Amino acid sequence: MIVAEQKSLEEMKALISDAEKVLVLGCGTCVTVCFAGGEKETMIASSSLRMATKLDGKDIKIEHATVQRQCEWEYLDQVADQIKDADVVLSLGCGIGVQAIVERFPESWVVPGLNTTFLGLPSEQGVWVERCAACGECVLDITGGICPIARCSKSLMNGPCGGSEDGHCEIDKDVECAWQLIYDRLAAKGKLDSILKLQPPKDWSSSRDGGPRKIVRPDLRFINEELEE
Ligand code: SF4
Ligand code: SF4
Repeated sequence: MIVAEQKSLEEMKALISDAEKVLVLGCGTCVTVCFAGGEKETMIASSSLRMATKLDGKDIKIEHATVQRQCEWEYLDQVADQIKDADVVLSLGCGIGVQAIVERFPESWVVPGLNTTFLGLPSEQGVWVERCAACGECVLDITGGICPIARCSKSLMNGPCGGSEDGHCEIDKDVECAWQLIYDRLAAKGKLDSILKLQPPKDWSSSRDGGPRKIVRPDLRFINEELEE
């Protein structure tokens, strides 16, 4: 899931300071699960902003709504009137949600209420950890299902480095060395051969270094064209 954190009330207040009508728009998917921008957080953020702006002597009309997914236009269309009616849409979706609103409603001014942080999972109550950097060329088959890109601080393809000590990474004693984890798992599975081969430098062209990425599925495009006919 995409993990995000809410900006502070002061930051959100600054983002809407010039508006007369604001829509705080939540998203019912990833950011609901990480308690950053779901229905409850959206309601609380809009109430807090209403109170805070009143205390500042400002008369800003602040409404709120939550759609199932901000990253799909069919859900955004359900609140089209509210989006168009607002001077500022404060999105509590991830960065993709913000951009989806901008693309669907180019006349609207949309600002981010969240800081989108990483792709990860909840490891325990109230803790989320990074697990994937969306590198575009997954190597989890070689590394026993532990990601060297997102979890090794240096994104090494052949590890560990000299900074690994007692299973911890040199950047922080609280961070487990990804390559120690990889080694332990492969050893337990009798598959150490997989990391004894030297891996070639990673092809970063499938990652962000290759510019904005895109996936085209001709099979699905064909089905859509058929349905439209
Ligand atoms: S190797 Fe790449 S795609 Fe696979 S989990 Fe790691 S960052 Fe994600
Ligand atoms: S100590 Fe381990 S996790 Fe840290 S940079 Fe070196 S190999 Fe990567």
